[in-house]
Amino acid sequence: MRLSQFHLNTVKEVPAEAEIASHRLMLRTGMIRRLAAGLYTWSPLGLMVLRKVEAVVREEMLRAGAIEMLMPSVQPRDLWEETGRWEKFGPQLLKMRDRKEQEYCYGPTHEEVITDFARNELRSYKQLPLNFFQIQTKFRDEIRPRFGVMRAREFLMKDAYSFHLTPESLAETYKAMYDAYTRIFTRLGLKFRAVQADTGAIGGNASHEFQVLADAGEDAIAFSDGSDYAANIEKAEAMPPSGERPAPSAALTRVDTPTQKTIDDVAAFLKVAPSQCVKTILVKGRSGLVALCVRGDHEVNEVKAAHLPELPDTSELASEAEILAATGTRPGFIGPAGLPDDIPVIVDHAAAHLADFVCGGNADGTHYTGANWQRDARINRVADLRKVVEGDPSPDGHGTLRLARGIEVGHVFQLGEKYAQAMNATVLDDAGKIRVMSMGCYGIGVSRIVAAAIEQCHDEAGIRWPEPMAPWRVAVCVINPKNDAQVAQAAEDLYQSLRQQGIDAVLDDRGLRPGQMFADIELLGIPHRVVVSERGLAAGSFEYRSRSESESRNLPREDLITLLG
Ligand code: ATP
Ligand code: MG
Repeated sequence: MRLSQFHLNTVKEVPAEAEIASHRLMLRTGMIRRLAAGLYTWSPLGLMVLRKVEAVVREEMLRAGAIEMLMPSVQPRDLWEETGRWEKFGPQLLKMRDRKEQEYCYGPTHEEVITDFARNELRSYKQLPLNFFQIQTKFRDEIRPRFGVMRAREFLMKDAYSFHLTPESLAETYKAMYDAYTRIFTRLGLKFRAVQADTGAIGGNASHEFQVLADAGEDAIAFSDGSDYAANIEKAEAMPPSGERPAPSAALTRVDTPTQKTIDDVAAFLKVAPSQCVKTILVKGRSGLVALCVRGDHEVNEVKAAHLPELPDTSELASEAEILAATGTRPGFIGPAGLPDDIPVIVDHAAAHLADFVCGGNADGTHYTGANWQRDARINRVADLRKVVEGDPSPDGHGTLRLARGIEVGHVFQLGEKYAQAMNATVLDDAGKIRVMSMGCYGIGVSRIVAAAIEQCHDEAGIRWPEPMAPWRVAVCVINPKNDAQVAQAAEDLYQSLRQQGIDAVLDDRGLRPGQMFADIELLGIPHRVVVSERGLAAGSFEYRSRSESESRNLPREDLITLLG
């Protein structure tokens, strides 16, 4: 490619809404342009990168035995009614009508369509297992589209769906996909972790997310420093403290805390550690309010709480009015001691291990000190309710937990019979019996990977692409091509011989001033830069610089080609 014949439009200023580096750099390089909230055009430059990612994903899926197909983006309502997701998917589902007033959605995912395909195509266990994939545009009406293509409304996903007669066969393909994902992200040159993920209503321990490590990541992940244990913080198990709970030694005493409502304020006022306090949160349960108690230095894990039988799948905090009506007390002064009997008290393991603790007094402006479980406060259930914190013991018994931020770029999931059952997708087994198929699903955010890679690989000057994702591996920069035919010819020759060697090179023949040209090439993140100048030619060499080094070197043509080959 010659840049003089390409469309490149780098810019200095970007809108303030571009909060993170990858979003800013994708706009500054001109890789993407915003059309409307969460909708982006991929410019020729951006598309080159997107296609490289797509190619690696496709190659590894095929290598792992998956077969490619393509399903429609627009999907009829009837199918979604069969699984109950027309309503359940909620406002993320973009719904529309055609001229005959038939209802459709723009596919946010394709379980319904593939299961319909499978129930029509597959008859016998002999056809199984099968793993279908596609690389296709999805739409999700995200509540908060942000960070450019990282959380867009329209985005490119690779989604795969496998079909099996037995759970064992599903587990095998799941492992093959896990390994394929590991190869994909390794080949792309990304630092990532496969982490255990929450499986929501389906249960089981059969879901992993692939997280690219980056401070701007929306997910928190926990990993052990002494083993390969890693989990999304939503899922990471907090181990119960060991040993017996100490016996009570203090008397229950009500103290005035007129303006102290938060744990930090109460702890400072009463001169105790937050870890000696119990924090009580009232949430809306399936019937009436439910109290969740964690230690003052811990936080409630909402995903774990959603698994409690007392709570609905997504629970909300009780409002001030509801708290007042149920307890006669304002928020900030609620505690487990003396709470009305009709509010179940569910206590995290660590909080349940405390003796002589501080908690809300269930009367405005007061707290208790010297509170003790059983003696003063009811426990209806002890459960794992909290988010793990740095330094917690690893649940596999090896090492302690560390926390990091991650960007979810892939997700593998053993669905089991959930969709096949709802949509009656069956085959005959070897005894001629009708059997519901087991399914797995495997997603990769192809467009999100581009942003995630930049988030992980950039500096003040711009992007620093891992080589497999760079739009071009080598930039040949010509100084003053219009006025110096000899230099222009030497650059052209070098560019041609690089291409003949199969080296992915671009010729910067735009005739920009050197400073401007080099700034662009750095911003674009091209891994290798070669400068062709009159001075270099006179000395019989080219000036070479790697994007990851601060110094350039002069190399004769042969050495240069060997280095880049
Ligand atoms: P998230 O928690 O980030 O919303 P998800 O759990 O909804 O992701 P999946 O349904 O598993 O995502 O989709 C598969 C992959 O598609 C994700 O791992 C992610 O990489 C990508 N993806 C999901 N939502 C978006 C989005 N709004 N923009 C870009 N990529 C996305
Ligand atoms: Mg989502």
